[in-house]
Amino acid sequence: MTYVFSPTAVPSLAVAGSADLFPVRRILCVGRNYADHAREMGSDPDREPPFFFSKPGDAILPASGTVPYPTQTSRLEYEVELVVAIGVGGSSIPATSALDHVWGYGVGVDLTRRDLQQQAKDTRRPWDVSKGFDASAPVTPLIPAASLAGGPGAGRIWLAVNGGVQQDGDLADMIWPVADIVAAASRSWRLAPGDLIFTGTPSGVGPVSPGDAVTGGVAGIGSFEFTIGAAPAA
Ligand code: MN
Repeated sequence: MTYVFSPTAVPSLAVAGSADLFPVRRILCVGRNYADHAREMGSDPDREPPFFFSKPGDAILPASGTVPYPTQTSRLEYEVELVVAIGVGGSSIPATSALDHVWGYGVGVDLTRRDLQQQAKDTRRPWDVSKGFDASAPVTPLIPAASLAGGPGAGRIWLAVNGGVQQDGDLADMIWPVADIVAAASRSWRLAPGDLIFTGTPSGVGPVSPGDAVTGGVAGIGSFEFTIGAAPAA
C-alpha cells in the first residue's frame, strides 16, 4: 500500500535552545480567559465555563520574520496568548493531574480577522474563516515544562505594535488556569501528543497593518518580534 501522493509535511515548532522540533497535531483555543478582555468584547466573564474553537495545525508559523497579511479582511487583530503544548494524550483528564500531560509552553498570537468574526457572530455562522485561516497562529519556540520553575501560574504577558504597548496583563489574571483548561479541553476532545492549546488573551486587542512591527512575550517563557507582511492583491 502506498499513498497516492506524498503526505503533506507535519507542521512543527522549534524547541528553544535545541535543534529538536515539536510536531503539531491541532490547535485548540480558549475563547475568553481574562475578565478584562471578556468585558471589552461585550460579555460577562463571571460565570462562563471555558469554551473552545480551533485552528488547523498547519496554521502555525514561527513568530519571527514576516507574518503574511491574510486575504478577505480589512481588520486583522492580534491576541497574545500563553500556548500549552500537550505531550501526553488523554480524555477526561482531572485538573489535579493535567499538568502531567503538558510537554511545554510557548507564546502565540491568535490572529483574527475581526471583521469576519463580527459577521459570523451577527449571522450565527462558524468562526473558522475568522480564526482558522492560513498563518493565523504565530508561535515562539517552545520551552519544556520541566525547565519552567514554579509553573506557568504567573508572569507578565504583553504585546506591542511599533513599540507601543497595547496588551499588558499577567497570567495570574487568567479566569481558568492551565490545569483547568487542559482538563476542560479533554472533556470535549481526546487530547493527543502534539496538540496545542491557546489559553486566551488579556485586554487591549486591536488592529495591525502591513509593515507594523509586532513584539511581545510572556515573562519566563519567550518573546517574539515579527513584521506584518504586505496586503494581498485585491
Ligand atoms: Mn484568542
